[in-house]
Amino acid sequence: MFGYAAEEAIGRNVSLIIPDRFREAHCKGLERMRAGAPSHIVGGDPVELEAIDKEGREFPIELSLARWQRHDSRDGFAAIIRNIAARKALEAECASTRAFLNSVISNLPVALFVKDVASRRYVLANQKAEDLLGGKRPLTGLRDRDLHPGVGPVLEARDLETISTRRPTVNERDILQPNGERQHLKITRVLTEAPDGEGRLILGIAENLTDIRRTEAENYRLARFDSLTGLLNRKSLAEVLEGLTAGQDSYALLYIDLDRFKAVNDKYGHQAGDRVLEEVGARMREEMGENDCVARIGGDEFIAVLTGHDLRFRCDRLAAALIKAIAEPIDVGRISVTIGASIGSAIFPDDGLDSNRIRENADLALYRAKQEGRNRYCAFNLAMDTAAKEKVELEADFQAALKHDGVTLNYQPIVSAATQEIVSVEALARWVHPTRGRIAPDTFIPIAEEAGLIEELGRRVLERACADARGWDPGIAVSVNISPHQFESETIVPFVKQALERTGLPPHRLHLEVTERVVIKNVECVFKQLAELRALGVSILIDDFGVGHSSLCYFNDFPFDKVKIDKTFIFELDRSRAARAIIEAVTTLSRNLSIGVVAEGVETLEQQALLTKLGCTHLQGHLFSRAVPAEEIKRMQRLAPGSAALPA
Ligand code: C2E
Ligand code: MG
Ligand code: MG
Repeated sequence: MFGYAAEEAIGRNVSLIIPDRFREAHCKGLERMRAGAPSHIVGGDPVELEAIDKEGREFPIELSLARWQRHDSRDGFAAIIRNIAARKALEAECASTRAFLNSVISNLPVALFVKDVASRRYVLANQKAEDLLGGKRPLTGLRDRDLHPGVGPVLEARDLETISTRRPTVNERDILQPNGERQHLKITRVLTEAPDGEGRLILGIAENLTDIRRTEAENYRLARFDSLTGLLNRKSLAEVLEGLTAGQDSYALLYIDLDRFKAVNDKYGHQAGDRVLEEVGARMREEMGENDCVARIGGDEFIAVLTGHDLRFRCDRLAAALIKAIAEPIDVGRISVTIGASIGSAIFPDDGLDSNRIRENADLALYRAKQEGRNRYCAFNLAMDTAAKEKVELEADFQAALKHDGVTLNYQPIVSAATQEIVSVEALARWVHPTRGRIAPDTFIPIAEEAGLIEELGRRVLERACADARGWDPGIAVSVNISPHQFESETIVPFVKQALERTGLPPHRLHLEVTERVVIKNVECVFKQLAELRALGVSILIDDFGVGHSSLCYFNDFPFDKVKIDKTFIFELDRSRAARAIIEAVTTLSRNLSIGVVAEGVETLEQQALLTKLGCTHLQGHLFSRAVPAEEIKRMQRLAPGSAALPA
């Protein structure tokens, strides 16, 4: 152990094996013992000391000392020495492992605890567990019922579950902390044997899910409800309908669209608009029963769903109530606005066998309600369906025709009343449907307008007409009809520019025909565009004058180049004095303003004579020519009445 052979050591002082720094104390102690002082070392428990070997290496030893009476009567000691280096190393390792584990447990980012099964007292808890389960109080030695007078027994009952099932259990629970805060904890428990084999323990971790659950609840609310009105949103409505359809429960669906809401929004701003929607949402909820639901599915569109008995009756009654409630004035800050609602309804399964069909049909009924005027309610019926289907089909067919150049142009000459020379030709769209034959523009133009196809049609017509006109006598202008929608979408100016540029047609050879419908909405914006067109050098005609909202003011507001008197006045000419008076008024005014007047729909020589006498400067009608393909215009220049070959 010490590296000395027996003969080297025998006879030498025992300080041989004592490190220098202890040597003095050792010698003194030995002196004291020799003098008879009592020593705890002698005969007592072994003591641990440091020793040094021959090579000068220190190591720990355990020393047991006993007095030894030798026969030559010299006192001595007998010592038993054990090298305890290995044991010490093991102990140090244990201590460091324990320290490491302790630090892991206490710094664990989860709350960890151990409870004794028999007493249910906490035997270990890290800092987090003390914070969470004890409200920052130490847990060791306490039971849940001591810590939480309210929920404590429940927590202990959960322990029991773990104990009896011997399976890990997970529970969530709200715990009221001593500071009054309510926290949502998730506690996971497992049963384990105590390491010393004595009894069993519950090992648990607790997580604070308060924030997570709160966010989840908020997300759920956001995902399901419209944040502005608090009504269901589009997605949850779809779920409701899906559930109802799957269960084959009958229900009534009401499609509700606000009237004049957009005007409020435009006039008073979005905040006012929001306020209106909030109020409408509240009023709707007020009218709805407990089991009914209502969702906001778009800007100012809502859907209400009724379930249960007497659906038709209740649906009609609810619609009436909603219309009445929504029509009441709404206070927005210091002003009060009045809007309205149009409602269409359909009932599952009577009016359709799936929720999509029901929505479509309620939408159709809504459309009908709107057509009948505002603040109306209309329930779906089968006749609507047939008409709508036809319209949808025609829409699709028209779209296809437009794409494949199936919409063509014919041109109808407009002649000078004085000379019968052709001054311009009007481009008129023609569509021959593959199965239905010729469809009148009065039918397909509104379809194109509604389907959002009018811009595309308008663009093509403009370009075709300008291109065709390039092939004619340069004295002939081409007149193109423009829909109000083209002004609303503000596409007309760029499209006209584009057509002129691409075809090279001089702008003065292009005339545009607009009806008064164009100025019903947003007058300023329309006049601005008209002025831009005029600045390009294009002429502007007012078409179908006399029907609708004709107002002589238009002549004052915008310098139109020509006015076209609607053909209904021409047809009535020989019968109606009023028609004649109106024509005369228009021609007189136009003469003073130097505006040309076109009479359209001239079919007879008598009409021609009278209209010329009344002051119409230009004439158009079957008497001169029907609308013919572009090629034929090339061959025409002057048209004696009835002289043109009339195409079928
Ligand atoms: P409109 O601009 O007033 O066109 C004149 C209509 O009167 C044409 O009907 C023409 O064929 C018809 N007409 C001309 N002379 C006579 C006549 O002597 N007797 C009778 N009974 N009718 C006559 P059409 O071609 O059916 O067009 C109807 C309406 O469709 C047009 O009225 C115009 O508003 C619109 N339209 C036609 N093509 C286009 C187009 O390319 N774009 C737009 N936006 N509208 C168009
Ligand atoms: Mg026209
Ligand atoms: Mg017309």
